[in-house]
Amino acid sequence: MADCLFCGIISGEIKGEIVYQDSSVVAFKDINPKAPVHLLIVPRKHIATLLDVEQGDKGLFGDILFAASKLARDHGISEDGFRVVLNCGAGAGQSVFHIHLHLLGGRALRWPPG
Ligand code: 5GP
Ligand code: ZN
Repeated sequence: MADCLFCGIISGEIKGEIVYQDSSVVAFKDINPKAPVHLLIVPRKHIATLLDVEQGDKGLFGDILFAASKLARDHGISEDGFRVVLNCGAGAGQSVFHIHLHLLGGRALRWPPG
């Protein structure tokens, strides 16, 4: 989608530190990390928010979660615990309107989040 930051990173038009990609999912390092490991996991398909997910996207979210599990192992945060976050809407802190999971780990994570 034109003017979408994450579509730009996926296509290579915008620089991103990509750590994983397959036919449906791309993961890259967050530019402003909130933990020692902070990755963003996105579908190649442009979907703005969780509220825009359609019936046909259900399998895609299995792929995204499976990638999160693999990346947690590959980045050494699986044993100590990690967090997966999906902000939906500006009121929850969503600032980029291409749906993404945050994968956070490498430090103690408090609950509940602010
Ligand atoms: P949100 O606030 O929408 O849940 O998360 C958006 C995330 O994208 C933020 O954690 C922010 O640091 C990250 N971000 C914003 N601009 C860029 C960018 O140009 N490159 C990368 N890699 N991450 C970005
Ligand atoms: Zn997009």
